Amino acid sequence: MTTNTRSESVAASAIPSLERLLASPAFAALLTAHGRTRVLAASRVHLAALRAQAQEGALAAEAIRPEAIAARVREALQAQDCPRLRTVFNLTGTVLHTNLGRALLADEAVRAVVQAMTAPAALEFDLESGGRGDRDTLVEELVRELTGAEAATVVNNNAAAVLLALDALAKRREVVVSRGELVEIGGAFRIPDIMKRAGVRLVEVGTTNRTHSHDYVEAIGPRTAMLLKVHCSNYAITGFTKSVPVAQAAEIAHAHGLPLGVDLGSGTLTDLTAWGLPAEPTVRETVAAGADLVTFSGDKLLGGPQAGFLVGRADLIRRIKKDPLKRALRVGKLTLAALEATLRLYREPEFLAERLPTLRLLTRPASAMAAQAARLRAPVQQALGEGFVVDESAMASQIGSGALPVERLPSHGLVLRPVGKRAGRSLSRLEAALRALPRPVLGRVADEALWWDLRCLDEADEAAFLAQLTELRP
Ligand SMILES: *Cc1c(COP(=O)(O)O)cnc(C)c1O
Repeated sequence: MTTNTRSESVAASAIPSLERLLASPAFAALLTAHGRTRVLAASRVHLAALRAQAQEGALAAEAIRPEAIAARVREALQAQDCPRLRTVFNLTGTVLHTNLGRALLADEAVRAVVQAMTAPAALEFDLESGGRGDRDTLVEELVRELTGAEAATVVNNNAAAVLLALDALAKRREVVVSRGELVEIGGAFRIPDIMKRAGVRLVEVGTTNRTHSHDYVEAIGPRTAMLLKVHCSNYAITGFTKSVPVAQAAEIAHAHGLPLGVDLGSGTLTDLTAWGLPAEPTVRETVAAGADLVTFSGDKLLGGPQAGFLVGRADLIRRIKKDPLKRALRVGKLTLAALEATLRLYREPEFLAERLPTLRLLTRPASAMAAQAARLRAPVQQALGEGFVVDESAMASQIGSGALPVERLPSHGLVLRPVGKRAGRSLSRLEAALRALPRPVLGRVADEALWWDLRCLDEADEAAFLAQLTELRP
């Protein structure tokens, strides 16, 4: 006897009606969980698909049982409920990965955000006088204490901080910048473009590799509003080079009655060499060297939420706070709550590497990742099967987000190498399968293999990490 799908297909008229389905015991739990509106909408979509199958003569009798329909509708609703902002495993080796959301918040900051979200808070209310307060004061004192600056204000991110500083202090005037410091950060933020948007005329001085003090001096004229130095966040100029240090640039600026601005980019609040990390200029150092205004990010090395700081001379900060753009770029209470809690951690540097996730990840010793690689190699090999060879390997992590672009941190991890013909295709298929996991796994492709740097894999997450690999269909 031959089987024929057409003869097994049921007619569209056999599909139960929506009313019957909603009244069926199979739908009771669905209605309780999701409510009538959503269940109705999802059921309509599914029933239309069943009718289309019937039209094609490909509708199995099994598919129209209320239990089967309820199961499909549940799957559809669950798929809709999966957040678009997905949690992933960052095995790229870049700790502060801009596309993966940069810094993770400390527990203290998370708790502060939850507090601020769930109860009214004195955001702009002075509890001492009972009058109106200024939201910046919530973090200003801490920032002053940690940077030595006279005053501080906060905006949405560092790009906004630079834009605001230029708008408030240099609109329709000139700002002098070294040609070696005209950076582009991730495509959309370019110093020359941001100057244009702020209505500032950029005066480039020096050459790409060498800028001298006399270059700055010669560029200063009656329309100069300030000198600006910019941290070369994502590149390094090496070889026959010269740049003017902050202290010297400050001297030149001050001799001409001008302020010196410094865009520090990442800007750290603590000397990273104390933790064995490469040196990065601190905000305090930069202020002490004579910078009148310093801008930096909240979610890079500082390890807090997305934000941009402007710190420096009180009179400049006052002018900046009066600029109408400040109101447009200000931060909300959740950001301020997270910032305050994060900054507080810096008061107890002894515990910082434990409490601040960014520093904890940056200071993880290679031996910790090596031990992880040894634990994970065999189970990962088993999950991937014979199509791949999994090896432990030393590798090098990057800090990311424009901090220390050249420096690498010794790390360890796994290298997943496809075997046989069409290796390139199996590698892309593996990457796609890893991205399709409930918590997608992101690595780095190099040298025809997938590299997993284990620096950012929390040891507490290892079991969950392995458990979902068994679902892998490479
Ligand atoms: C990262 C960076 C910025 C932009 O900071 P965001 O907080 O991402 O807006 C600006 N300038 C420099 C030098 C940077 O490194």
